[in-house]
Amino acid sequence: MKSPSQTNAIDFDSAKLQRLGFGQQQPVLERPVSLAQLRQQLSIQLQTSLEPQRILGLFFREVQRLVPLDALTYEHKSSDLRLEFGQRGRHSISYSLSHEGEHLGELVFRRGQRFSEKDQGSLESLLAALLYPMRNTLLYRAATQKALRDPLTDTGNRIAMDQTLAREIEVARRHLQPLSLLMLDIDHFKLINDTHGHSVGDEVLRAVATSIKSQLRNVDMVFRYGGEEFLVLLSNTPREAAAMVGERLRFAVQAEDYLAEGRSIALTISIGCSTLLPGESAESLLRRADNALYIAKREGRNRLTMAG
Ligand code: GH3
Ligand code: MG
Ligand code: MG
Repeated sequence: MKSPSQTNAIDFDSAKLQRLGFGQQQPVLERPVSLAQLRQQLSIQLQTSLEPQRILGLFFREVQRLVPLDALTYEHKSSDLRLEFGQRGRHSISYSLSHEGEHLGELVFRRGQRFSEKDQGSLESLLAALLYPMRNTLLYRAATQKALRDPLTDTGNRIAMDQTLAREIEVARRHLQPLSLLMLDIDHFKLINDTHGHSVGDEVLRAVATSIKSQLRNVDMVFRYGGEEFLVLLSNTPREAAAMVGERLRFAVQAEDYLAEGRSIALTISIGCSTLLPGESAESLLRRADNALYIAKREGRNRLTMAG
Protein backbone atom coordinates (compact mmCIF):
# COMPACT_ATOMS: atom_id res chain seq x y z
CA MET A 1 0.00 0.00 0.00
CA LYS A 2 1.24 3.43 -0.85
CA SER A 3 2.04 5.41 2.24
CA PRO A 4 0.14 8.70 2.50
CA SER A 5 3.41 10.50 3.18
CA GLN A 6 4.61 9.67 -0.31
CA THR A 7 1.98 11.71 -2.05
CA ASN A 8 3.08 14.93 -3.71
CA ALA A 9 -0.31 16.59 -3.76
CA ILE A 10 -0.51 19.90 -2.03
CA ASP A 11 -3.32 20.39 0.39
CA PHE A 12 -4.40 23.95 -0.38
CA ASP A 13 -6.66 24.25 2.59
CA SER A 14 -3.96 23.47 5.06
CA ALA A 15 -1.47 25.62 3.12
CA LYS A 16 -3.85 28.55 3.51
CA LEU A 17 -4.34 27.82 7.18
CA GLN A 18 -0.61 27.83 7.67
CA ARG A 19 -0.32 31.26 6.09
CA LEU A 20 -2.99 32.48 8.46
CA GLY A 21 -1.00 31.17 11.36
CA PHE A 22 -3.23 28.27 12.39
CA GLY A 23 -0.96 25.72 10.85
CA GLN A 24 0.83 22.67 11.92
CA GLN A 25 4.00 24.50 12.82
CA GLN A 26 3.60 25.56 16.40
CA PRO A 27 5.58 28.64 17.37
CA VAL A 28 8.91 27.53 18.71
CA LEU A 29 8.68 28.17 22.41
CA GLU A 30 12.17 27.44 23.58
CA ARG A 31 15.32 25.88 22.25
CA PRO A 32 15.15 22.13 21.77
CA VAL A 33 16.11 20.14 24.80
CA SER A 34 17.38 16.65 25.44
CA LEU A 35 14.94 13.87 26.08
CA ALA A 36 16.06 13.51 29.69
CA GLN A 37 15.71 17.24 30.34
CA LEU A 38 12.26 17.43 28.78
CA ARG A 39 11.09 14.40 30.66
CA GLN A 40 12.20 15.88 33.95
CA GLN A 41 10.63 19.28 33.20
CA LEU A 42 7.38 17.64 32.15
CA SER A 43 7.10 15.55 35.28
CA ILE A 44 7.32 18.74 37.37
CA GLN A 45 5.06 20.86 35.15
CA LEU A 46 2.31 18.26 34.82
CA GLN A 47 1.95 17.97 38.59
CA THR A 48 0.75 21.59 38.77
CA SER A 49 -2.82 20.93 37.67
CA LEU A 50 -5.75 18.60 38.25
CA GLU A 51 -7.54 19.65 35.08
CA PRO A 52 -7.18 17.09 32.29
CA GLN A 53 -7.54 19.84 29.67
CA ARG A 54 -4.57 21.72 31.12
CA ILE A 55 -2.37 18.67 31.77
CA LEU A 56 -2.78 17.28 28.27
CA GLY A 57 -2.58 20.75 26.68
CA LEU A 58 0.77 21.31 28.38
CA PHE A 59 1.94 17.85 27.39
CA PHE A 60 0.93 18.41 23.76
CA ARG A 61 2.79 21.74 23.66
CA GLU A 62 5.96 20.66 25.43
CA VAL A 63 6.38 17.32 23.65
CA GLN A 64 6.66 19.26 20.39
CA ARG A 65 9.99 20.64 21.47
CA LEU A 66 11.29 17.19 20.55
CA VAL A 67 8.64 15.50 18.42
CA PRO A 68 6.59 17.67 16.04
CA LEU A 69 2.86 16.86 16.12
CA ASP A 70 -0.33 18.08 14.50
CA ALA A 71 -2.86 16.68 16.91
CA LEU A 72 -3.40 14.78 20.10
CA THR A 73 -6.64 13.12 21.17
CA TYR A 74 -7.32 11.61 24.53
CA GLU A 75 -10.22 9.42 25.57
CA HIS A 76 -11.23 7.76 28.82
CA LYS A 77 -14.59 6.15 28.20
CA SER A 78 -15.62 5.25 31.74
CA SER A 79 -15.27 8.86 32.93
CA ASP A 80 -16.92 10.14 29.77
CA LEU A 81 -13.87 12.23 28.95
CA ARG A 82 -12.68 13.05 25.44
CA LEU A 83 -10.25 15.85 24.60
CA GLU A 84 -8.75 16.96 21.32
CA PHE A 85 -5.82 19.28 20.66
CA GLY A 86 -4.60 20.56 17.31
CA GLN A 87 -5.65 19.49 13.86
CA ARG A 88 -5.77 16.11 12.23
CA GLY A 89 -2.75 14.55 10.54
CA ARG A 90 -2.66 11.53 8.24
CA HIS A 91 -0.26 9.44 10.30
CA SER A 92 -1.15 8.35 13.75
CA ILE A 93 0.28 6.43 16.64
CA SER A 94 -1.81 5.21 19.58
CA TYR A 95 -1.04 4.37 23.14
CA SER A 96 -3.14 2.92 25.91
CA LEU A 97 -2.14 4.40 29.26
CA SER A 98 -2.32 2.20 32.30
CA HIS A 99 -0.82 2.11 35.73
CA GLU A 100 -0.80 -0.95 37.97
CA GLY A 101 -3.59 -2.53 35.97
CA GLU A 102 -5.73 0.59 36.05
CA HIS A 103 -6.77 1.92 32.65
CA LEU A 104 -5.95 5.62 32.33
CA GLY A 105 -7.15 6.34 28.81
CA GLU A 106 -6.21 6.13 25.13
CA LEU A 107 -3.90 8.65 23.48
CA VAL A 108 -3.56 9.18 19.73
CA PHE A 109 -0.79 11.38 18.30
CA ARG A 110 -1.22 12.58 14.72
CA ARG A 111 0.80 14.41 12.14
CA GLY A 112 1.44 14.71 8.40
CA GLN A 113 4.79 12.91 8.51
CA ARG A 114 5.45 9.34 9.51
CA PHE A 115 6.66 8.70 13.02
CA SER A 116 10.23 7.39 13.03
CA GLU A 117 11.52 4.80 15.48
CA LYS A 118 13.29 7.58 17.32
CA ASP A 119 10.08 9.66 17.57
CA GLN A 120 8.25 6.65 18.95
CA GLY A 121 10.96 6.05 21.50
CA SER A 122 10.83 9.69 22.60
CA LEU A 123 7.03 9.68 22.87
CA GLU A 124 7.07 6.50 24.91
CA SER A 125 9.65 7.89 27.26
CA LEU A 126 7.75 11.20 27.68
CA LEU A 127 4.44 9.41 28.22
CA ALA A 128 5.77 8.16 31.55
CA ALA A 129 5.51 11.75 32.84
CA LEU A 130 1.75 11.61 32.19
CA LEU A 131 0.97 8.58 34.32
CA TYR A 132 0.68 10.09 37.81
CA PRO A 133 -0.89 13.39 36.72
CA MET A 134 -3.53 11.53 34.70
CA ARG A 135 -4.21 9.06 37.48
CA ASN A 136 -4.68 11.97 39.90
CA THR A 137 -6.94 13.93 37.58
CA LEU A 138 -9.14 10.88 36.97
CA LEU A 139 -9.39 10.17 40.69
CA TYR A 140 -10.26 13.80 41.35
CA ARG A 141 -12.87 13.76 38.61
CA ALA A 142 -14.44 10.57 39.98
CA ALA A 143 -14.55 12.06 43.49
CA THR A 144 -16.20 15.31 42.39
CA GLN A 145 -18.69 13.42 40.28
CA LYS A 146 -19.51 11.12 43.18
CA ALA A 147 -20.14 14.11 45.45
CA LEU A 148 -23.01 15.08 43.14
CA ARG A 149 -24.73 11.66 42.96
CA ASP A 150 -27.27 9.94 45.16
CA PRO A 151 -25.71 6.51 45.76
CA LEU A 152 -28.98 4.62 46.31
CA THR A 153 -30.76 5.61 43.10
CA ASP A 154 -27.82 6.79 40.95
CA THR A 155 -29.51 10.08 40.20
CA GLY A 156 -28.22 13.59 40.89
CA ASN A 157 -28.39 14.74 44.51
CA ARG A 158 -29.62 18.05 45.94
CA ILE A 159 -26.28 19.80 45.34
CA ALA A 160 -26.28 18.71 41.70
CA MET A 161 -29.90 19.77 41.38
CA ASP A 162 -29.25 23.29 42.73
CA GLN A 163 -26.28 23.76 40.40
CA THR A 164 -28.04 22.37 37.34
CA LEU A 165 -31.25 24.28 37.96
CA ALA A 166 -29.35 27.59 38.28
CA ARG A 167 -27.44 26.84 35.08
CA GLU A 168 -30.56 25.79 33.15
CA ILE A 169 -32.43 28.94 34.20
CA GLU A 170 -29.52 31.00 32.87
CA VAL A 171 -29.54 29.11 29.56
CA ALA A 172 -33.32 29.42 29.23
CA ARG A 173 -33.12 33.20 29.78
CA ARG A 174 -30.22 33.72 27.42
CA HIS A 175 -31.73 31.71 24.57
CA LEU A 176 -35.36 32.63 25.31
CA GLN A 177 -36.22 28.96 25.64
CA PRO A 178 -38.90 27.39 27.81
CA LEU A 179 -37.79 25.39 30.86
CA SER A 180 -40.09 23.01 32.73
CA LEU A 181 -39.81 21.05 35.91
CA LEU A 182 -41.55 17.90 37.15
CA MET A 183 -41.70 17.10 40.84
CA LEU A 184 -42.56 13.44 41.44
CA ASP A 185 -43.55 11.82 44.72
CA ILE A 186 -44.31 8.13 45.28
CA ASP A 187 -47.84 7.59 46.55
CA HIS A 188 -48.25 6.03 50.01
CA PHE A 189 -44.62 5.06 50.14
CA LYS A 190 -44.65 4.88 53.91
CA LEU A 191 -47.07 1.96 53.59
CA ILE A 192 -44.51 0.01 51.53
CA ASN A 193 -41.88 0.51 54.23
CA ASP A 194 -44.35 -0.37 56.97
CA THR A 195 -45.62 -3.49 55.20
CA HIS A 196 -42.46 -4.91 53.61
CA GLY A 197 -39.60 -3.27 55.50
CA HIS A 198 -37.11 -0.55 54.76
CA SER A 199 -34.86 -2.58 52.46
CA VAL A 200 -37.75 -3.43 50.15
CA GLY A 201 -38.55 0.30 50.25
CA ASP A 202 -35.00 1.00 49.10
CA GLU A 203 -35.30 -1.51 46.26
CA VAL A 204 -38.55 0.09 45.14
CA LEU A 205 -36.92 3.54 45.18
CA ARG A 206 -34.14 2.23 43.00
CA ALA A 207 -36.60 0.61 40.60
CA VAL A 208 -38.67 3.80 40.32
CA ALA A 209 -35.52 5.82 39.53
CA THR A 210 -34.56 3.29 36.86
CA SER A 211 -37.95 3.41 35.22
CA ILE A 212 -37.96 7.24 35.23
CA LYS A 213 -34.50 7.31 33.65
CA SER A 214 -35.44 4.73 31.04
CA GLN A 215 -38.10 7.10 29.73
CA LEU A 216 -35.84 10.14 29.36
CA ARG A 217 -33.25 11.12 26.81
CA ASN A 218 -31.21 13.19 29.21
CA VAL A 219 -30.71 11.15 32.39
CA ASP A 220 -28.40 13.87 33.79
CA MET A 221 -31.51 15.87 34.52
CA VAL A 222 -33.03 13.47 37.07
CA PHE A 223 -32.44 14.26 40.73
CA ARG A 224 -33.46 12.75 44.05
CA TYR A 225 -35.03 15.72 45.72
CA GLY A 226 -36.12 14.17 49.00
CA GLY A 227 -36.66 10.71 50.52
CA GLU A 228 -39.07 9.43 47.88
CA GLU A 229 -39.29 12.52 45.73
CA PHE A 230 -37.62 13.04 42.39
CA LEU A 231 -37.18 16.07 40.25
CA VAL A 232 -36.87 16.09 36.47
CA LEU A 233 -35.65 19.16 34.61
CA LEU A 234 -36.85 19.51 31.03
CA SER A 235 -34.78 22.02 29.10
CA ASN A 236 -36.27 23.71 26.05
CA THR A 237 -39.64 22.14 26.87
CA PRO A 238 -42.87 24.15 27.01
CA ARG A 239 -45.74 23.48 29.39
CA GLU A 240 -47.81 21.11 27.24
CA ALA A 241 -44.83 18.99 26.20
CA ALA A 242 -43.71 18.79 29.83
CA ALA A 243 -47.15 17.53 30.83
CA MET A 244 -46.89 14.81 28.18
CA VAL A 245 -43.47 13.73 29.46
CA GLY A 246 -44.86 13.69 33.00
CA GLU A 247 -47.77 11.49 31.99
CA ARG A 248 -45.39 9.13 30.22
CA LEU A 249 -43.36 8.83 33.42
CA ARG A 250 -46.48 8.25 35.47
CA PHE A 251 -47.62 5.40 33.18
CA ALA A 252 -44.15 3.87 33.11
CA VAL A 253 -43.89 3.77 36.89
CA GLN A 254 -47.39 2.34 37.20
CA ALA A 255 -46.74 -0.33 34.54
CA GLU A 256 -43.58 -1.60 36.25
CA ASP A 257 -43.77 -4.80 38.32
CA TYR A 258 -42.30 -4.25 41.77
CA LEU A 259 -41.69 -7.43 43.71
CA ALA A 260 -41.45 -7.96 47.45
CA GLU A 261 -41.03 -11.51 48.73
CA GLY A 262 -42.19 -12.76 45.35
CA ARG A 263 -45.43 -10.77 45.47
CA SER A 264 -45.96 -7.77 43.23
CA ILE A 265 -46.62 -4.38 44.79
CA ALA A 266 -48.85 -1.82 43.09
CA LEU A 267 -47.17 1.53 42.86
CA THR A 268 -48.11 4.95 41.57
CA ILE A 269 -46.65 8.46 41.61
CA SER A 270 -48.10 11.95 41.71
CA ILE A 271 -46.55 14.80 39.75
CA GLY A 272 -46.50 18.57 39.97
CA CYS A 273 -45.41 20.43 36.84
CA SER A 274 -44.25 24.03 36.51
CA THR A 275 -42.77 26.08 33.63
CA LEU A 276 -40.39 29.00 34.15
CA LEU A 277 -42.03 32.42 34.05
CA PRO A 278 -40.19 35.53 32.86
CA GLY A 279 -37.89 36.74 35.63
CA GLU A 280 -38.80 33.86 37.95
CA SER A 281 -36.33 32.53 40.55
CA ALA A 282 -35.38 28.87 41.06
CA GLU A 283 -37.12 28.92 44.46
CA SER A 284 -40.37 30.15 42.96
CA LEU A 285 -40.27 27.61 40.13
CA LEU A 286 -39.75 24.81 42.69
CA ARG A 287 -42.43 26.15 45.00
CA ARG A 288 -45.01 26.22 42.20
CA ALA A 289 -44.22 22.59 41.25
CA ASP A 290 -44.45 21.62 44.92
CA ASN A 291 -47.83 23.33 45.27
CA ALA A 292 -49.10 21.56 42.14
CA LEU A 293 -47.87 18.24 43.58
CA TYR A 294 -49.73 18.94 46.81
CA ILE A 295 -52.93 19.47 44.83
CA ALA A 296 -52.35 16.21 42.88
CA LYS A 297 -52.09 14.38 46.24
CA ARG A 298 -55.16 16.06 47.66
CA GLU A 299 -57.24 15.28 44.59
CA GLY A 300 -56.61 11.55 44.89
CA ARG A 301 -52.96 10.83 43.84
CA ASN A 302 -51.72 8.97 40.73
CA ARG A 303 -52.12 12.11 38.65
CA LEU A 304 -50.29 15.10 37.22
CA THR A 305 -51.23 18.67 38.10
CA MET A 306 -50.02 21.78 36.32
CA ALA A 307 -48.90 24.77 38.38
CA GLY A 308 -51.09 27.82 38.10
P1 GH3 B 1 -48.05 10.39 50.03
O1 GH3 B 1 -48.84 9.61 49.06
O2 GH3 B 1 -48.82 11.49 50.65
O3 GH3 B 1 -46.78 10.87 49.42
O4 GH3 B 1 -47.66 9.37 51.21
P2 GH3 B 1 -46.24 8.85 51.59
O5 GH3 B 1 -46.43 7.73 52.55
O6 GH3 B 1 -45.47 8.52 50.37
O7 GH3 B 1 -45.59 10.15 52.18
P3 GH3 B 1 -44.78 10.49 53.45
O8 GH3 B 1 -44.02 11.71 53.09
O9 GH3 B 1 -45.66 10.51 54.63
O10 GH3 B 1 -43.75 9.28 53.62
C1 GH3 B 1 -42.58 9.18 52.90
C2 GH3 B 1 -41.83 8.01 53.44
O11 GH3 B 1 -40.65 7.75 52.72
C3 GH3 B 1 -41.38 8.22 54.88
C4 GH3 B 1 -39.98 7.68 54.91
O12 GH3 B 1 -39.82 6.70 55.89
C5 GH3 B 1 -39.76 7.08 53.58
N1 GH3 B 1 -38.40 7.24 53.08
C6 GH3 B 1 -37.73 8.38 52.89
N2 GH3 B 1 -36.48 8.13 52.43
C7 GH3 B 1 -36.36 6.78 52.33
C8 GH3 B 1 -35.32 5.89 51.94
O13 GH3 B 1 -34.21 6.29 51.55
N3 GH3 B 1 -35.55 4.56 51.97
C9 GH3 B 1 -36.77 4.08 52.38
N4 GH3 B 1 -36.94 2.77 52.38
N5 GH3 B 1 -37.76 4.88 52.77
C10 GH3 B 1 -37.58 6.21 52.75
MG1 MG C 1 -42.85 12.80 50.06
MG1 MG D 1 -44.97 10.03 49.00
